[in-house]
Amino acid sequence: MLSLPHYRHNTRDLGISPMPKVSFVRALCTAALSLTLFCGFTFSNAYRSPRNSEREVRKSTSLIILHTTEAPGKSSLRKLCERGESHYTVDTDGTAYRIIDHKRVAYHCGRSMWNNVTRLDDVSVGIEVVGYHNRQITAAQITTLKSLVKEIQNIYKIPDERVLTHSMVAYGTPNRFHKRNHRGRKRCGMQFATWSLRQMIGLNSQPRFDPDVRAKRLINADPYLAKVLYGSAKEQDKALAKYNASDSTIISAGRTAWDIARDAYNSPDTIYVFPGGTRKAGNQITLWARIPVGTKVILNESCTDEDPVESFTVVGKDGKNATELAGEENSSPTTYYIYPNGRSASGNELTQAQLDKLPYGTKILVGYKRAGPIKAGMKVYSICGSKWKAADTYFLYPHGLLKPGSEMDDNKIPVDAYLFYKN
Ligand SMILES: [Zn+2]
Repeated sequence: MLSLPHYRHNTRDLGISPMPKVSFVRALCTAALSLTLFCGFTFSNAYRSPRNSEREVRKSTSLIILHTTEAPGKSSLRKLCERGESHYTVDTDGTAYRIIDHKRVAYHCGRSMWNNVTRLDDVSVGIEVVGYHNRQITAAQITTLKSLVKEIQNIYKIPDERVLTHSMVAYGTPNRFHKRNHRGRKRCGMQFATWSLRQMIGLNSQPRFDPDVRAKRLINADPYLAKVLYGSAKEQDKALAKYNASDSTIISAGRTAWDIARDAYNSPDTIYVFPGGTRKAGNQITLWARIPVGTKVILNESCTDEDPVESFTVVGKDGKNATELAGEENSSPTTYYIYPNGRSASGNELTQAQLDKLPYGTKILVGYKRAGPIKAGMKVYSICGSKWKAADTYFLYPHGLLKPGSEMDDNKIPVDAYLFYKN
């Protein structure tokens, strides 16, 4: 198996020069209204994310990830913009909205792995297509995607077989349906794996198998999805036609809540309507084996994860203790344990007996440095440079709250907080 080479950035932008420093008000109006004609499709800045400037510039870029929003255009755009969850979003009329600068990190992948590389937000450009994973996209979207994908491929030298779908790379951690890390957490963008659609958007090759399932790093928790992603052209079309013909949202003898809702099966946004008419949200259900046949599942999902992946793990998660979670790093000076009461200790400050008895809910940060307590007037920039505002940097408040740097305001850093940042 080839490992993923990381390509250097080519600094060429998408043919658009930075906004000239004219009147700020005028600039704002232009940003909201103007459409820039380029390569036969239009870019709009109407949903530029306010998070853009705080996002780090990626060090390497080796993948393009295609998504379907699983929700209508305007509400998808508002959410993606607010949270900075894609680089581009292509609406049904073919307009491409620039959400996050393509050189910076957008949170579009969530928990992800491809060819043993994880956290793919750090190495990928994400394109959201307004639509659903099991429906046709519009002709205008196909035209725009063809130009946009080609443009990004050229900038980062990304070959066709590294233009992937979110469903190819998303993976789940153990849950009540699957005991191991598994593929099949999402079906997002799965139609972009079909030969027929790929040809239309100008892609002539694609992965023929899942490298992480083949290497047994993950199990395959969605055989149907695997058929759509990696089957022959004929198998793909057949699988899609069968899926679209059946009412795939009703629980039956052969179709579980997991089959329908995937990762969102126990989400408060997933509604189960029992045959008698009673409704329950996913988080209100405990007896999963007793959901009656005929129950309808109403999904209210979005393609991206609700929250960016957290960089820490928690004692008690999946029934594991600190040693199981931190592995050989458990007694390392760069592993930190944050107790529920707000105290923290590094691995080398604790005995094995203490490590074995860490309270449930203790957070574990692996590969970190600790600074603090922060004194009044201290500038966080002087401690770790621009890392202070990274999503994987954490501020530990004296009362125990752990908050990511990306959510901090540098004017409001609490006195006596500790700062944990990646080595
Ligand atoms: Zn997605």
